Amino acid sequence: MSRILVIGGGVVGLCSALVLARAGHEVTVLDADEARQAASWGNAGHIATEQLAPLASPATLLGAWKRQFAAGGPIDLPLRFAPDWLPFAMRFVAASSLDRFEQGRAALAALLMDSLPAWRRLLAAVGRPDLLRESGHLVAWESEASAASGRAAWMQADTGTARVRDATAADLARIRGLSTQAVAGAVRFEGSAQISDLSQLADALECALLAAGGTIVRGRAEVVMQGRRATVAGFPADLLLVAAGARSAALVAPAGHKVPLIAERGYHIRGGASRWPADMPPLVFEDRSMIVTRYADRLQAAGFVEFAPLEAPADPRKWQRLEAHVQALGLPIDGPFSHWMGARPTLPDYLPAIGRSPRASNLLYAFGHQHLGLTLAAVTAEQIGALVEARAPAVDLQPFDLARFGGC
Ligand SMILES: Cc1cc2nc3c(=O)[nH]c(=O)nc-3n(C[C@H](O)[C@H](O)[C@H](O)COP(=O)(O)OP(=O)(O)OC[C@H]3O[C@@H](n4cnc5c(N)ncnc54)[C@H](O)[C@@H]3O)c2cc1C
Repeated sequence: MSRILVIGGGVVGLCSALVLARAGHEVTVLDADEARQAASWGNAGHIATEQLAPLASPATLLGAWKRQFAAGGPIDLPLRFAPDWLPFAMRFVAASSLDRFEQGRAALAALLMDSLPAWRRLLAAVGRPDLLRESGHLVAWESEASAASGRAAWMQADTGTARVRDATAADLARIRGLSTQAVAGAVRFEGSAQISDLSQLADALECALLAAGGTIVRGRAEVVMQGRRATVAGFPADLLLVAAGARSAALVAPAGHKVPLIAERGYHIRGGASRWPADMPPLVFEDRSMIVTRYADRLQAAGFVEFAPLEAPADPRKWQRLEAHVQALGLPIDGPFSHWMGARPTLPDYLPAIGRSPRASNLLYAFGHQHLGLTLAAVTAEQIGALVEARAPAVDLQPFDLARFGGC
């Protein structure tokens, strides 16, 4: 039995803490997010088992120029923040070669393959299997041309354990019943899933952790090296797990890890869901790069990839654009809307960092899950559990080792 300090109580940290506490370890989570503003509690809720292709790819590179925010697209690289994102962009270009993309896809596929079963195991263990809704998701297009090219792209993509088929007439009628805008076509995924409500998920994970003997403390950690051990003042521990999302780089830096982690900021608006069917799976309007998710009593529209520093003020134009999309589509979301912005923790090869440091004898890490942190949280937690118990992880973690960035 070890005393383990987990830095970060987002979904990756909480799932890992829970797995460790249930294995009999004495676990403390130290988390700075009193108001639950982290990416984990504002994302689109989609268990995206189909997203095998890392975004560091030749296709992303070729298509990015057409998808800029200024041209109506979802990607924003504000010039004033170029010193922050340019070094990341250069590494991203290098990671997007065909060879590295194929390696990344194989690595991500291995992790994604067990992502949904891992969520089933974890939520069954905490007595809340109902939080996982396994009814796939839908992707819709508004023009015949985008429907034809979007459908063809998905039909030929490797979607791992998820399957894609044409939407049925009933699916299409349902989507058309929710939008006043013409919907030209849609596909339906099976084998993907949704977390039915993110705040209930947070409550369930926290309660289960406390019930398993864990402790949650609100506060901000600083890591200091004492010899070859990473320490946090006031929290004596045998092992330290850094799972602090987009702030993780500063916490592994004292051990000598130079990690090119960036905040990819996304936005959502939420309104009342009284006019949206409770059993409607997440619905992606791909022409608008927007995903609409029904939670317990709220309906959310989310999107955007903004490369800006964590502390920079939110850009209200993104909320305005989401509201304009909702209005243009005629979606029945009850106002007034609440507004949120949160940061995806992203590494230039769009693979997470999961492993044990060779530089600090007691340091483990689990961060950098980019657009897939909710999807991969439970399976990541199981790999961390194996590392702590010195068992062989079920997934080869070598591609996720921080050593890939040098400096260690
Ligand atoms: C708009 C949007 C939509 C998304 N949709 C999806 C989706 O549908 N499916 C999916 O799989 N993923 C999605 N994601 C990505 C997903 O939300 C993230 O990958 C995931 O939440 C990362 O979880 P995390 O626990 O690593 O980090 P976070 O959620 O950022 O949590 C990190 C925690 O660590 C705490 N912390 C940081 N520094 C310290 C410190 N020094 N001391 C103590 N605590 C600290 C923070 O306060 C925070 O609570 C989306 C993201 C966005 C922005």
